[in-house]
Amino acid sequence: MSLVTVARPKDVDLAVPPLTPGQPSGLTLRQIADGYSQWVTRDWARACNVEYRAGPSGPSVSLIAEGGTVWTTGDPRWPVMLATKDGISIKEFPSEAEVKAARWAFSAGPWLVRDGKTADIAAEIKRCGFSGLMENSLRERAAIGIREDGAIVHYANMSATLLQVQAAMLSLGCRDAIGLDGGGSVGVIDPSGKVLIGYTSRQVCCALVFRRLVDEHPAEVQPPQPQPKGGEKMIVCIDPGHGGPDPGAVSADGIQEKKVNLSVAKRVAEYLRRADVQVVLTRDTDKELVLGNDDAAELRARAQVANNAKADFFLSIHCNAASTSDAEGFEVYHYPGSTKGAMLATKIADAYAIASGLKRRKVATANFQVLRDTAMPAVLIELGFLTNKADCALLKEPAFLDKIALGIAFGILNMRA
Ligand SMILES: [Zn+2]
Repeated sequence: MSLVTVARPKDVDLAVPPLTPGQPSGLTLRQIADGYSQWVTRDWARACNVEYRAGPSGPSVSLIAEGGTVWTTGDPRWPVMLATKDGISIKEFPSEAEVKAARWAFSAGPWLVRDGKTADIAAEIKRCGFSGLMENSLRERAAIGIREDGAIVHYANMSATLLQVQAAMLSLGCRDAIGLDGGGSVGVIDPSGKVLIGYTSRQVCCALVFRRLVDEHPAEVQPPQPQPKGGEKMIVCIDPGHGGPDPGAVSADGIQEKKVNLSVAKRVAEYLRRADVQVVLTRDTDKELVLGNDDAAELRARAQVANNAKADFFLSIHCNAASTSDAEGFEVYHYPGSTKGAMLATKIADAYAIASGLKRRKVATANFQVLRDTAMPAVLIELGFLTNKADCALLKEPAFLDKIALGIAFGILNMRA
């Protein structure tokens, strides 16, 4: 179960109950929200827990500042969400003056998305010193992010890994996003005190209050299913099309398909490995498998890599080309008559459409040799057109390649269900 809350920056407050700086505080989310209703306004829509540690057990380990008062200073390594009159941002190492001048500020983490790129969560956990936080464990999670248009996105999920939450924040359009406290700290209530998701019994020291919401029904995010406990590891074979003397399609400004295919394949492999999937690449350098220009032998060799690895799924990655420059968007192909192939193609296309924002041309069958010669459900994706100016500009951007690779990985992981 997940819940998405979106609001404009001016409609987001940080409700801080009376605290003694550095001392434990002991109010539940409900009590903080009731205080906000009493002292500020009854007119609000949702309140969310933020905090890492408060209550009778000890003072907060998160920076908390509001209206010029710094209640706790927190851990300087953690990213800080700051609200000023100009909007809301997430920063590392803001100055004390910046924090004091802010409408409110709090620190949390780890970084999930930064500047539109996925953060290395494991490295972030280490850097911030979040002891006990595991990126791959399934538990209650919450995150907060900022969209390109400045809107604030809160996301809560009762059973997800940090990698899944990262994917969710990206697919919700966040340019920057950080994790909030998980487990028993996850809680969202409405003004009547109704628990919309999570828990509210924990004593915490502040809450985010969303006065007015936008996008009441944003696209539902479906995080991939977790690996069944004790089950066999999923094996995925990824085939970056072309290589070596065969560049594949080439754009007007010289971008070679073989290079884009390999960059995306490596990124997909990385995301799948982080989700505990075994990945086999048909090539991980700029080469061909069979020397000479026998295309049939080359493609047969690629399918053979997947068959030898006894892969559960096969994905060949390509970029498209057309004789006219106005053809744009992506296509996904599967072998005729393969039900699982069709399912894989649809799941990848659905996730890719959200991640890339590119035009969905078609999901269709094709009698391609790599689809025919592989013994498992197999899919070929055409990422976009190198002959189209807009597609090609995106396919040059490392941040875009990160985003679409995560989308593709997301689609494959959804086959675990
Ligand atoms: Zn190709």
